[in-house]
Parts: sequence; structure tokens; C-alpha cells
Amino acid sequence: MEQQREQKPVRRVVIAGGGTAGWMVAAGLSKSLGRLLDIRLIESDEIGTVGVGEATIPSLLNFHHLLEINEQEFMAETMATFKLGISFENWRDVQEDYIHSFGITGTDHWTAGFQHFWHKGRERGLAGDYGDYCLELKAAEQNRFAHLPNGGMNYAYHMDATRYAKFLRKFSERFGVQRIEGKIAEVRKDLLSGDIRALRLDDGSEVEGDLFIDCTGFRALLIGAAMGVDYEDWSHWLFNDSAVALQTASTREAVPYTRAIARDAGWQWQIPLQHRVGNGLVYSTRYTDDDTALRTLTAAVDGEALMKPRVIRFTPGQRKQTWKGNCVAIGLASGFLEPIESTSIHLIQRGIIRLLQMFPQNGISQADIDEYNKQADYEIAHIRDFIILHYTVTNRRDTPYWRDAATMKLPESLRHRIDLFRDTGRVFRVSNELFAENSWIQVMLGQGILPASHHQTADLMGDEELSQFLGNISNTVNRTVAQLPSHQRYVEQYCTGTGW
Ligand SMILES: Cc1cc2nc3c(=O)[nH]c(=O)nc-3n(C[C@H](O)[C@H](O)[C@H](O)COP(=O)(O)OP(=O)(O)OC[C@H]3O[C@@H](n4cnc5c(N)ncnc54)[C@H](O)[C@@H]3O)c2cc1C
Repeated sequence: MEQQREQKPVRRVVIAGGGTAGWMVAAGLSKSLGRLLDIRLIESDEIGTVGVGEATIPSLLNFHHLLEINEQEFMAETMATFKLGISFENWRDVQEDYIHSFGITGTDHWTAGFQHFWHKGRERGLAGDYGDYCLELKAAEQNRFAHLPNGGMNYAYHMDATRYAKFLRKFSERFGVQRIEGKIAEVRKDLLSGDIRALRLDDGSEVEGDLFIDCTGFRALLIGAAMGVDYEDWSHWLFNDSAVALQTASTREAVPYTRAIARDAGWQWQIPLQHRVGNGLVYSTRYTDDDTALRTLTAAVDGEALMKPRVIRFTPGQRKQTWKGNCVAIGLASGFLEPIESTSIHLIQRGIIRLLQMFPQNGISQADIDEYNKQADYEIAHIRDFIILHYTVTNRRDTPYWRDAATMKLPESLRHRIDLFRDTGRVFRVSNELFAENSWIQVMLGQGILPASHHQTADLMGDEELSQFLGNISNTVNRTVAQLPSHQRYVEQYCTGTGW
């Protein structure tokens, strides 16, 4: 059927859904191509949004840079705080913690990463913890933060998801996006081409378009229900299929990291914002039930509850195609990996950038569609492997959930990475992959793999030289951290506009 598509220019873009995905798409498209396009976004206040998704990774700064968003304005409007990494508690084993930070650890040699020198230092009794050589990690541990010159501090944000969508709505409307309030009742397709022709709303009106972006969240009304694209289920690797979310009042200063606390059949998140804390428990209904999850969460939060706890169901995995015909799915409609590494908003952003790079202004080409889908598959598969790593490399055997996670059959790509690091300490970043070497190293060490050997370049250093090399790095880190203000104080001054 697809070959019968008319090659017509794309001028009318219809975004279905106004959650984080819908408004990020609206902002990205309107800022870059707004003058050439007629962009409309349909959302339903009655249906609402998923209402979570508040921890981000540093790539969001690039997106904001492209949109020329003022950071202080963004942070003030979304009640954001800074994030330097994630504290993984009870993951390697009960009562053992580590931080996966956004920083760079130590200094690499061109033949061998810093981890080889650290490994040699450990063998010789000369090295501290791997994290002692990372500025962002030590700053996180001590609850300190400041912007440093020349991007000297890598960071992301915690933000209020509902406020972020509102912030981007204002932004997009300034660039000409038209918002339509209403419920999509039917997706009308062209019988010949199989493309979407219009969305019929519950008031009977129709919104016609050339290109439709499905941002309807888990409902996936366009890509799934109308275009018939199947979903690839990854729950044999990623057991969690539910979450319960709860917002609470802050009871202490906001820390500059997300807390991810492993529990018997899942893990709990704690995301500190300026005005409240976002909490939740991600769990697997194969190993526990909603009541137990709710009890576990409410027993573990300390502030007053600001809402009724809300259960969210999901299937980990992805759409087999995220672009089909004249429909592109972005956000939860395109797939979902659980939020342990805060990667969903990043994937939304990547979808937008890819769409802009391949924007079909002169008509939709199957070659573009194939390339878009290939890149999307590749990106999400790497992130999937990184997430599985957190579960499968662990010393925990205390519950069926952790026992099964530790013994599952892994994707070959991940098996190889783990074996390579375990035997040699080597990690190689595949091009365009989100997580760089230092992320893999921090998590592999943090989860309990100590490589069996290191690169011989590290052996070329004698004890004195190695001790001095390691000592210089950790002294510089400590000196810099000691000069930073507290994160809470920095946010208060920065976001109220009094500045630093
Ligand atoms: C438990 C959990 C925790 C998460 N934590 C993080 C995190 O820390 N970091 C991160 O990056 N990501 C996180 N995510 C993912 C993140 O929440 C999403 O990627 C992000 O919110 C985008 O969602 P969305 O816009 O695709 O969907 P939604 O927010 O569900 O928006 C869907 C939109 O479609 C509209 N809609 C649906 N049906 C209709 C209809 N019939 N008519 C009209 N409109 C309709 C809705 O009204 C809404 O506007 C988390 C997800 C979950 C489930």
C-alpha cells in the first residue's frame, strides 16, 4: 500500500498529545521550522499526562541550548534543582552504595583509560575509591554545587514534569504552535496509502495534517492502534512493569542527585525539587503486588503526602517501527525503558533531533523512514543493555527477584561488554552511544565487578610516580569541592535571580 503515497510536501504537522513529549516536539519543531510549518497540538486536560519523568541527564542542556532557553527562567518555572548523578543504594548488596556521576573520572592515557591506573594503584595499596578522582561525584556526596568555568561541572536537572510541559507550551505558542483542547475519538486513514488523513475529536471536528506525531503516551493511539505497529516486549530482561508515584513535602535540603534505592522486588526513586520531593517505587508484579509496593513506598518516605499515590502500568520495550507512513511516535508511545537512568526524556530529544535532520519537507521517503527507525533501534538497544547491567551484576541473592535478575540470559552485546571488563578492565564506547566509557566503568565497578587485570601502560609507572599522579588528581578534586557552596543555597540564589 505504501508505494501509493503521494509525494506531497509536508506543511501541516499535527502533534497528538501534550505531555513532556508533545510539548518538547512542539518546542523543537516550532523553534527550528516554525516559519515553514503549520503546527497544531491536540491534548486533553480530562485525560491528563503520566505526571512523572522528573530526573534528566546532561544532554537536556544541549536541547535547551538549541532552543535558546534561559536556564534561570527554566529552573524558576519548573522548580528545578541540579543533578550530578544517581546514588545507587543496596544494588551491589544490601547496605552498599555507589554513585554513578555525570563527571569524568581521573585522566586517561591514550592507550589506557584511567581505570587501569586506578586498578594498578589499588593493587599497590596507593589508590582510594574510584570515585575519589571525580569532581561531580565528590560534590554530590558533599551536597555542593556551582557552575564552573568552561563547563567544568557536568550536570542535569530534577524538574517538575507538569510545570515543564506548561513552560514548553508557553515557549511553543510564542513560535506559533496552535493548541487544541479535545479528545481524539478516531484516527481517519486514507484507504489507498494507509496514511493518517485526520484526527476526529469528540466534538465531531477534524484536524487534518500531512505528518502526525504520536505523543499520546502509553495509549499509542496513532502508531499502535491505527497504524498497527507491534510492540517488542523486553520484560524477560527488564522485570519491572509497574510503578507507584507519590509526591511529598520536602523535609530537608535538596541534594544534587537522584536516589535509587533497591528494594526486594524493584527500586525506589527520590527526586528532590525546590518545592517538594518526587517519590516512587518501580516494581515487578511477577514478584510482588500493588499493596506491598504501596506499603513499602509509604513506609520509606518522610514528608507529608501531597497527593494520593498513583499506580502506573507499563511494558518495557519498544515499537517495532517508531516511524511508519506519515506517523512518527515520540515519547512513551514509541516505547519505554524503566527510569533507572533517566533516559526517556533523552530519547524524546533524540527523536526530535532525528526528525528535524530528516524532516520530509518535500515528501516522505521510505529511505528516511528506514534510516530513522534504524537509528532509533540502535540507540534504545544500547540503553537497554546499560539498564540490564544494573540488575544482573549484583551480589544480591536475598529475594527471588534478585536471584532471577542475577541469572537471566543476557543480550550477547551486554554479555561481551561484561566479560571484556571483567577480564581486562577495558571498555569501548560504540559511536553515538549515549553512555560513555566512564558511565559503564562506574556502574560495573559499583555493581561489583573488579577487573582481573589492567593495561600494561599502568605498569610503566613506579609506585612513587603513580602515587603522585593519583594524589594530584584527588587533591585537585578535593580543593575544588571545598570551594563550592551548598547545593541548596546555590539553587535558592540562582533561581530567585539574585545570582552568583
Ligand atoms: C514511573 C515512571 C517514571 C519516569 N521517570 C522518568 C525520569 O525520571 N526521567 C525521564 O527522562 N523519564 C521518566 N519517565 C518517562 C517520562 O515520564 C516520559 O518519557 C515523559 O513524561 C513523556 O511522556 P509522554 O508525553 O510520552 O506521555 P504522557 O505524559 O502520558 O502524555 C500523553 C498525552 O497524550 C494525551 N492523550 C492521550 N490520549 C488522548 C486522546 N484520546 N485525545 C487527546 N489527547 C490524548 C494526554 O492527554 C497527554 O497530553 C518515567 C516514566 C514512568 C512511567
